[in-house]
Amino acid sequence: MFCRKCGANAGDAAYCPNCGEPITAGIRRPAYAGKTVNKVAYGIIAILLGGLGIHRFYAGKWISGIVYLIFSLTGIPSILGLIEGILALVKESDDYGNIPVYENSFFV
Ligand SMILES: [Zn+2]
Repeated sequence: MFCRKCGANAGDAAYCPNCGEPITAGIRRPAYAGKTVNKVAYGIIAILLGGLGIHRFYAGKWISGIVYLIFSLTGIPSILGLIEGILALVKESDDYGNIPVYENSFFV
């Protein structure tokens, strides 16, 4: 099991050895993509350039980035980018200011 909060491999432990977050078995957690992004950079990119999906490319989510780009003229990606940026900025980052990226999660 991987920690949802920091992405550390917690093995069979009940609590994350890295950050102490409880590891809940049986609940499907988003897969940690093994990647982190700088929280502030991601948040600002998502808010300013979210309408073009640039933050998605930055996080390595190429497919949704392309979808954002295709629908950029509808304005919907701009709204989603704004929400994603705010959600990222209120997230707790690690000591280096990074937040983990989850592969199966819509939001970072
Ligand atoms: Zn953790």
